[in-house]
Amino acid sequence: MHPGRVWRHGDSRAVRGPVLYWMHREHRAHDNWALVHAIGEAKAAGAPLAVVWCLSPRFLDAAYRQFHFLLRGMRGTAETLREHGIPFFLLQGDPADEVPRFAATHGTGLVVTDFDVLRLKRAWLGQVREALACPLHEVDGRNVVPCRMASDKREYAARTLRPKIHRLLPEYLDPFPSLATEASGVAAWKAPVPDAMAAPDWDALLAAHPADRSVPALTGPDAPVPGEEGARRTLETFLTSRIHRYEKRNDPNADAVSGLSPYLHFGMMAAQRVVQRVTASTAGSADARASFIEELVVRRELADNFCLHTPDYDAVTCFPAWAQGTLDRHRDDPRPHLYDEAALEKARTADPLWNAGQTQLMRCGVIHGYMRMYWAKQLLLWTPTPEEAMRIAVRQNDRWALDGRDSNGYAGIAWSLGGVHDRPWGERPVQGTIRCMTYNGARGKFDVAAYIARMESLRGGGQARLPKSPCQRQ
Ligand SMILES: Cc1cc2nc3c(=O)[nH]c(=O)nc-3n(C[C@H](O)[C@H](O)[C@H](O)COP(=O)(O)OP(=O)(O)OC[C@H]3O[C@@H](n4cnc5c(N)ncnc54)[C@H](O)[C@@H]3O)c2cc1C
Repeated sequence: MHPGRVWRHGDSRAVRGPVLYWMHREHRAHDNWALVHAIGEAKAAGAPLAVVWCLSPRFLDAAYRQFHFLLRGMRGTAETLREHGIPFFLLQGDPADEVPRFAATHGTGLVVTDFDVLRLKRAWLGQVREALACPLHEVDGRNVVPCRMASDKREYAARTLRPKIHRLLPEYLDPFPSLATEASGVAAWKAPVPDAMAAPDWDALLAAHPADRSVPALTGPDAPVPGEEGARRTLETFLTSRIHRYEKRNDPNADAVSGLSPYLHFGMMAAQRVVQRVTASTAGSADARASFIEELVVRRELADNFCLHTPDYDAVTCFPAWAQGTLDRHRDDPRPHLYDEAALEKARTADPLWNAGQTQLMRCGVIHGYMRMYWAKQLLLWTPTPEEAMRIAVRQNDRWALDGRDSNGYAGIAWSLGGVHDRPWGERPVQGTIRCMTYNGARGKFDVAAYIARMESLRGGGQARLPKSPCQRQ
């Protein structure tokens, strides 16, 4: 494994005592660099290894839908780990308390964990690091080129990050070792651990979880299947039947995109595995494959770069100076409509295209990528201030989207509302020089009526009663 993936906190004394891998972003057993690193450290020290995962009662605006997807996926991952002889222990509560407590109880010699850029995760990491009596290693298994290696500052735009990523990409595209080979030869875990941690009842955990049930789980025939196996099948189906259409990815009716974002968000699949699979494939044209890798690597890694270097990534203060200035100059412009969050959430606006996007978000747990931009941008026009537009966009996306609460989401919203990674365009009321997207512009790009009709069919109906596949991959 490339050493550039590991960020070491604490001294570099020899490991004495078990190695723990605290998993919290990369929810997978296979193709997981943090796990590979933890196994390597355990073997080198002749120490036992365990994976710990902490179920917290809340996480940002995640609701029942997201906890359902996560817990169902984690059940499979825990089983895979056990099949490979790696103990898995489930903790419950605030990870900042529970992880150090477990580590202290078991005289842990090293904690290895996932790299994450969100404020809450950075705070967890800081608290855990303070409380631990042993070193902590952070491993970037999310980005193909580790975020800190690609750049040490906030990048201006995709064009400034792209050459840095491409220069390092060959070095970091090393093949993943097989879990079976890696896991053999690790010292056995002997210390007793309570049954509730060692053999969790996943159904009971989900049933007792306090998550908001007004955002229901996605369970219909078109719903993404949680976990590593669901991720693998989604990737293979994309390669065999859709990547050749990827150049039509801005058409929400074209069924051209991968549908991988929930899996990538929850770390149920490594982006690096997707890149390796796509580059080894001859499916679709070379242009389609290159465009897909641009989104998956450059755009996605730009989002982590943005959040790592911009702690106010979900506030208007993160917008570039030109964007804050133009929005300020248009603060007092009359808005064409004003809606409160309740009306927006119920998709009750005068714009049927926006309502269709919001309906897709609530019913399918995603919005098509093109519609996501349109959806966010209209909020500037319909709310009294940019601050309120930002608040609503973040809350709705984090609450309803399966892939929300993600650096991609915060960067996408900041791009749409505040020109982050973009440039000034022609001046218009309210939006100033922020790039605008209009209903007529959308009509010129795709069959808006067909998209609206598809999403209308979802309104008021359960997933199981839907006509053919309105949710499928948007
Ligand atoms: C307002 C707004 C909100 C967004 N919210 C989210 C979010 O909450 N979670 C999320 O993962 N993405 C978000 N995006 C980015 C993008 O729209 C989605 O990643 C994409 O639509 C997911 O569908 P897919 O997996 O089928 O994409 P594909 O086109 O198949 O792309 C494959 C992967 O590349 C990455 N990717 C694609 N486009 C982008 C992009 N513009 N920026 C960063 N990464 C990208 C994603 O990981 C995606 O899964 C948002 C964009 C905007 C404009």
